[in-house]
Amino acid sequence: MALNPLYHQACFLASASRLGNAPADQGFEVAFAGRSNAGKSSAINTLTQQKTLARVSKTPGRTQLLNFFRLDDARRLVDLPGYGYAKVPEGMQHAWGQMIEQYLSRREALKGVFLIMDARHPLTPFDARMIDWCQHFGLPLHVALTKSDKLSRGAALDTLHKVAATLRREYAQPISVQLFSSLKRQGIEEAHAVLDGWLAIG
Ligand code: GDP
Repeated sequence: MALNPLYHQACFLASASRLGNAPADQGFEVAFAGRSNAGKSSAINTLTQQKTLARVSKTPGRTQLLNFFRLDDARRLVDLPGYGYAKVPEGMQHAWGQMIEQYLSRREALKGVFLIMDARHPLTPFDARMIDWCQHFGLPLHVALTKSDKLSRGAALDTLHKVAATLRREYAQPISVQLFSSLKRQGIEEAHAVLDGWLAIG
């Protein structure tokens, strides 16, 4: 299946420190969330077939912001600040929480959250917080267990089944989950099928 050219067209649009200075709340948006170092930037780059797109979110001054990438006039990908840096002071963690919660609860254009977890360390307390918010606000959620190349095939499938079972058991609304690898370029079609649905592509 060929990649829809819209993804490859992605380009940096704007950064926002709060909802008030985000781009106009119209059209369709998918937010990427995940613990710092989980592999979120790599996943965004892989899914847009670009080498450096998500690097912008890691430039000084932008790491704590909402970073918007434009696909076309009506569609955007949003890189949420990575969470879980041990060194981030508590006040900043609080500000982070407030910004994300506000974005998740009020953004009309937001159609789903694509949550990146390291397949070797899934479902951290920060992930649980993000899932709780999505459930609370009725937001569709998809989990990509990335870096699956670092596990054997058997161990990766075992993790997939365990995470899926936990999500089914713990949460009322259905949450889809898949294996992913930016390094091996695995899981791209499955991820795009989810994004296409949320972004009304195709
Ligand atoms: P972020 O902080 O969540 O944006 O994480 P990055 O995308 O910057 O990735 C963190 C580290 O994990 C980097 O050293 C990446 O090269 C590595 N990484 C990311 N995705 C994968 C993957 O699918 N497989 C492997 N083996 N390494 C990965």
